[in-house]
Amino acid sequence: DELAELDARVSVCRACDRLVEWREEVAVGKRKAFADQPYWGRPIAGWGAAEPRVLIAGLAPAAHGGNRTGRVFTGDRSGDWLFASLYRVGLANKPTSEHAGDGLRLLGARMIAAVRCAPPANAPTPAERDTCAPWFRAELELVLPTTRAIVCLGKFGFDVLLNALPAVGVAVPKPRPKFGHALEYRLTSPYGELTVLGCFHPSQQNTFTGKLTEPMLDAVLARAKSLGGV
Ligand code: SF4
Repeated sequence: DELAELDARVSVCRACDRLVEWREEVAVGKRKAFADQPYWGRPIAGWGAAEPRVLIAGLAPAAHGGNRTGRVFTGDRSGDWLFASLYRVGLANKPTSEHAGDGLRLLGARMIAAVRCAPPANAPTPAERDTCAPWFRAELELVLPTTRAIVCLGKFGFDVLLNALPAVGVAVPKPRPKFGHALEYRLTSPYGELTVLGCFHPSQQNTFTGKLTEPMLDAVLARAKSLGGV
């Protein structure tokens, strides 16, 4: 199908010199704790329901997280937080992720990264963000017909989404919506109502400091689930 075709094309992308070098260097060097595991070391495809009601937009795979497991938002602390919450609100069938064959499934939801290759210090450059944007846009277009709510984990994903929306037929209000936790914007897609929700990223920076708590994350995901009618 079209999503599988897109995944196949993304998986061989080498458009960003710095990120290609980093993702592959990390995959060869590995971290001691994962020395016995093969690393994916390539771009990360979107993952989850093919016809999602809820779309979750993150930043980029972590060097030893998604870049190791090959599955977006798994294998690191942010992913642990996120999947535990998705399970609590009923958008995932299990609270934890072990490996690609663990039977974990998203229920009515799909995850997608704004930048598909692991960046050094989790920080893509603006040029890398823009180089990867067509992949994000292409996937957004394919899943838009069923999507009713989009949760942006962090301002980076929020900005990439707002930049992509006009190209898929969704007008962005002026003044441009601002990112904030639990802020939501009701937009109109060619297929019906579409709500964009902001959510602090479940990075350790936010979860260790209490800027993002479990109830705060659960509340946004539960709201998206309800908007999506999952
Ligand atoms: Fe290609 Fe995106 Fe990876 Fe850059 S970040 S190499 S555009 S998949």
